[in-house]
Amino acid sequence: MSQIVKGIIARAQGEPVEMVDIVVPDPIAGEAVVAIQACGVCHTDLHYREGGINDEFPFLLGHEAAGIVEAIGAGVTEVAVGDFVILNWRAVCGECRSCLRGNPHICFNTHNATQKMTLTDGTELSPALGIGAFADKTLVAAGQCTKVDATADPAAAGLLGCGVMAGIGAAMNTGNVGRGDSVAVFGCGGVGDAAIAGAHLAGASKIIAVDIDDTKLEWAKGFGATHAINSANEDPVAGIQALTDGNGVDVAIEAIGLPHVYKQAFEARDLAGTVVLVGVPHPDMTIELPFIEVFGRGGSLKSSWYGDCLPSRDFPMLIDLYQQGRLDLDAFVSEKIGLGDVEAAFHKMEAGEVLRSVVIL
Ligand SMILES: [Zn+2]
Ligand SMILES: [Zn+2]
Repeated sequence: MSQIVKGIIARAQGEPVEMVDIVVPDPIAGEAVVAIQACGVCHTDLHYREGGINDEFPFLLGHEAAGIVEAIGAGVTEVAVGDFVILNWRAVCGECRSCLRGNPHICFNTHNATQKMTLTDGTELSPALGIGAFADKTLVAAGQCTKVDATADPAAAGLLGCGVMAGIGAAMNTGNVGRGDSVAVFGCGGVGDAAIAGAHLAGASKIIAVDIDDTKLEWAKGFGATHAINSANEDPVAGIQALTDGNGVDVAIEAIGLPHVYKQAFEARDLAGTVVLVGVPHPDMTIELPFIEVFGRGGSLKSSWYGDCLPSRDFPMLIDLYQQGRLDLDAFVSEKIGLGDVEAAFHKMEAGEVLRSVVIL
């Protein structure tokens, strides 16, 4: 028995999203159906709608979600009916060359549901990041469900499923920020502010926020930035050097995905420091760097996929820190909206007016 629920789809490139009936099959082996309680609106949803990811329309949007497991398929042991879970897009396979090498956090063959959700006429839907959670219910691989403390607010918890985890993980996992480190974060939207929060949690003593928007720089201070540089008014490289005895920072995190900003991060880092790219570039972009500097400065240039997170390790830990008041996930929730408000939320996001709008179901 499948069930019909409401969901938000992108039917064609650039067209406004629509609320439609979708068909959610009962879970078979390895799958789970989750009743969604909250789902954040992320830039990636907009990228799907704009055709920037692939052209497998129609997309069932939404992927930063938390909810309750409603049903599980045969043989599922990862989660049980009634569990409060955050959905992830890294359900590790345990068998690929990366998993076998002991690196499941960069699994190359992650799982999604086997069956397809559809429109009522049978048209198959492509769920965003294999999740599709702007819907009352969604079908996922059981491994995409990570059980966490059930007393956490779903609106805040769900954000760990994508952007906030990407940012925190860029600092804590990829950048390996430690006690006393100096850190600069370029771009203070949701991911950048999460990187600031992650650097703060990890014990960084100096956290320099860089953005061209004073409002965003104020947000950044709320997440733990100790200094702010408006790069529209001031050269951020010189500014960062001035704040670090002329040396540059130990870890420079680029959370925008623009070549000229990456170059600033590269130049603003101390000798043997680390540059972390967590912003997603456009496929057409290229970058040119002085090759002798790539060698001469030493250290490492790293890219952070989903914050190099392992959901089963990181989500419960971060929710515990949230519940203890040490990680302010609530501050990422700019507004709570209804399922019919996703299109309006895209506009607010593009205008830079919100960190996250969160759909409450
Ligand atoms: Zn794997
Ligand atoms: Zn996202």
